[in-house]
Amino acid sequence: MSTPLPLQAQSLSKSYQGHPALRDVSLSLQPGERVALLGPNGAGKSTLMQLLTGLFAPDQGSIHIMGHDMRTAAPRALSHLGVVFQQPALDLDLSVQANLRFHTDLHGMPRATADARIHEGLERLGLMEHLHKPCRTLSGGNRRKIELVRALLHRPAVLLMDEATVGLDPASRVQLLQAVQDLQREQGVATLWATHLVEEVEHADRVIVLHKGAIRHQGRVSDLLTDTGQATVQAAFLSLTRV
Ligand code: ADP
Repeated sequence: MSTPLPLQAQSLSKSYQGHPALRDVSLSLQPGERVALLGPNGAGKSTLMQLLTGLFAPDQGSIHIMGHDMRTAAPRALSHLGVVFQQPALDLDLSVQANLRFHTDLHGMPRATADARIHEGLERLGLMEHLHKPCRTLSGGNRRKIELVRALLHRPAVLLMDEATVGLDPASRVQLLQAVQDLQREQGVATLWATHLVEEVEHADRVIVLHKGAIRHQGRVSDLLTDTGQATVQAAFLSLTRV
């Protein structure tokens, strides 16, 4: 039997009160692949992320994570998924360690393995000194890095990041992107990164342009330029999303 793809979504559609937010969206991730999901505000990125994380069910279509159907085998599918949501999701009054241990406990990870991975993740991002500090004392950029470490503690096959850099200053944004890239390379996790910022697609293996709920382009960044006849990603993006 062939190895299942980390993520495979087929013909996803979703409407809110009769207004389509996603129309027939299909995408897949290869092992270790870095894919940017680029779309302006309202394109449907968060809706797609909500479907992929099982928060909502699609009206139509299917989602498989490591071959497990989100509809019929959600716990198994979700066990292979790491997520950094758009809204920060740390308990600010708890320490970094307590926040991270909560996640490893949820995944039923033995404490020794959990602590080893927590230390490794924090060391890797230069955050070890914050282990026992309340998350409230950390900068916005460091909080997001903690969420990134947390998302990878159970060694998922797929990492989803929904506009994770929103609210960060440019330096923190670059640092977070670099951290994702480093960890992603080391752990070989397939990553889908939603953003409305064209500068964030630079290091992606592939870019998916979403506009008004539909995929307008899917391919390498170089294909995006060739296919649209534009010189920059910015110009290509604007040409595909012009109203
Ligand atoms: P993005 O994340 O790309 O900004 P969204 O997925 O948030 O896009 O939104 C896609 C469309 O769906 C928008 O028109 C938005 O107004 C609509 N939408 C999103 N969530 C809801 C909701 N819970 N109820 C009604 N409409 C929604």
